[in-house]
Formats: sequence, structure tokens, C-alpha cells
Amino acid sequence: MSVPATALEPGATIGILGSGQLGRMLALAAAQLGFKCHIFAPDRDSPAFDVVRETTRAAYGDEQALADFAENVDVVTYEFENIPAETAAFLAPRVPVLPDPKVLATTQDRVAEKDFITGLGIGTAPYAALATSAELSAALDRIGRPAVLKTRRFGYDGKGQAAIAKDTAAETAWQEVGAQPSILEAFVRFDREVSVVAARSADGTVECFDLTENEHHDHILKVSRVPAAVSDSTAREALRIAETIAHRFDYVGVLAVEMFVLRDGTLLVNEIAPRVHNSGHWTLDGASVSQFEQHIRAVAGWPLAKPIRKGRVEMINLIGHEVEGYRKWLTVPGAAVHLYGKAAIRPGRKMGHVTRVFAD
Ligand code: AMP
Repeated sequence: MSVPATALEPGATIGILGSGQLGRMLALAAAQLGFKCHIFAPDRDSPAFDVVRETTRAAYGDEQALADFAENVDVVTYEFENIPAETAAFLAPRVPVLPDPKVLATTQDRVAEKDFITGLGIGTAPYAALATSAELSAALDRIGRPAVLKTRRFGYDGKGQAAIAKDTAAETAWQEVGAQPSILEAFVRFDREVSVVAARSADGTVECFDLTENEHHDHILKVSRVPAAVSDSTAREALRIAETIAHRFDYVGVLAVEMFVLRDGTLLVNEIAPRVHNSGHWTLDGASVSQFEQHIRAVAGWPLAKPIRKGRVEMINLIGHEVEGYRKWLTVPGAAVHLYGKAAIRPGRKMGHVTRVFAD
């Protein structure tokens, strides 16, 4: 089963795999539309648990807990793309799982993902798959330097990555990523980084939010700005790329496509996130509908809304100890403060965000 036979009624229960801030904001959006949420995650104490009625705290491989979960929800979605394939495969015959977990097989593997993107005629950085340090040396001869070595699986926020400069020994980079199957990518001298957050419903309607420009610090998203400072034709092309990807996946829900913009306006796709995305948090305050509501609408079989942006928007992540300064934002005109309720502050941990909407 992949699509609910009929649209859910208010009062239905949406099951969410994963309990981070994305699950929390999905659950809040679901509540606004009259749905209940049931979070399934292995964690003890996590942001999403605070805002839902039902929780299952169990391992993703716990089949009894998964069977009970499937029994008690009307549809399952996920806020976390590293859900084990077996978990999705166990749930899918029991309850609709959206977006279809087959998408995960592509997006959990950077090589499969890049093959999929280039197969659509969409550009990426030149890349090569490799599984040994000898293959890395051969790939470096082909791709050239500087380059970036990334693990094929389970990387995020720059984890599992090694930069390879002119004089970096291949073996050093290979050890740095844990000597495991990897992808070597040419280092892209981009002008900017942008992303498209797109929603697609089961009937094939796609609604994209405006192109967002993203600034990363230490590989972690720090600021998103909308609209992105690119030409109209580049922005249109970016949205077209996201729409093509959503259709090809027969996607239901929200996805994000991260891209590099070169000086001449060329777009190269870096990554697809099969979920709501940090670069779409601005939509909570800066648009007539949020990415979270669009996702809930899509998985509930409801029509998508047409997003209308409320002005120029900036989203600033509160990372690690920055969250301790949240008070200074409370009185800034046009600023909205979002705190994720995480108990422990750790360097690099996303603790909250602030959105600023400028009517100009
Ligand atoms: P990723 O984990 O693939 O999203 O990469 C995190 C960040 O590292 C990106 O947002 C870029 O800022 C940078 N990055 C990743 N891949 C490349 C690349 N091939 N060339 C240049 N910068 C990159």
C-alpha cells in the first residue's frame, strides 16, 4: 500500500517515524488540521514527544512495536531519511507509508542518488564511486583536485566527508571517512547554494516554495534567505528541476533539492532530502502555508495549498550555545522565535531558529 485509498478525515492519526524537530513541527501542523500524531522513534527524550498524544519508544527493528504502531495509525510518514529499509518494508504491507519508501533506496546512497539525477539529464558535480583506497587514487586521477570525498551512506551536515586539496594524501582522506564505500566529487566553485522545497500530492500536483538561498557555516545551515539572489530564469530552472525529480519519484509529500549555482547561472544538484527540510523553516512564518502543512496535506490525501510568500524572509538557525541568546530575538519586530525543546546543548546541534519577515 502506498497511497491512502481515500483522504483522511480530521481526527485520523498520522504516524511519524523519527522524533526530532522536524517531527515536532510536522505534528504541530497536523494538529492545526485536526489530526492526531503518533511518533515512533528509538530515542528516550526528543523534541517531537512533547507535542503528541501517542509515542512508541522502540528500535526501528522491533517488529512487535512496529506492528502495533501500524495497527494504530492511518498513514505513516517519516521526518528522518535514514530509516532502515527493513522498517519501511515491514510497515508498507500493513499501512500506507508516504512518501513511498522506494525513494529511500535512492536517497540513502549518494551514488544511486547522483546516478538518478544525471539519468534525468540534470547536472551534478563530476563524481566517481569507489570502494578501496586504490580506487580512490584512480578516481582522483579522473576527477582531479580539489575534490570532496563523502561516504555513500549516512552522511549529513558534513559528517563522513573529507576535503582533498592539492597536497592531501589520498590515504589520509580515505581513513578520514572511515575507509568505506564512498563517492568522490569534484569540488564545485559555486557562487551560491540554493534549495527548492517542493510538495507533490498523489494526483501529481506540485507546489514549490520560492527558491531559497542558503549559507552554511562548518557544513551546517546557518542562514536561509528568500528570495534567492539569482535571475528569474535560474530560479525557474531550479523549480523545474525539483518538479522533475518529484514526478519521477511519483513522490507524495515534501522534498527538498539542494543545488549549487555557478557564476553563469548553471545549476548542479548536490543532494535530495526526501522530507521537510531546514531550508524550508522560513515557510512557517513567511508563507501562507508551511512546508509542514503541505507535507501533512499530501500524506493525508488533501489538496495542496498554493503558497504565497509574505515578503522578504530570513531564517537564522540557533546552533549549540547560540540558543541561549533567544531572548534578544523576542522583542525584535518581525522576528518569530522557534525553540525545539532539546534538553542538552551540544556544539553543532540545531536548538531552534528565528524567522524574520520584512514586508518590503
Ligand atoms: P552535503 O552533506 O553533501 O550536503 O554537503 C554539505 C556542504 O558541503 C554543502 O552544502 C556544501 O557547502 C559543501 N559541499 C558538498 N559537496 C561539495 C562539492 N562537491 N563542492 C563544493 N562544496 C561542497
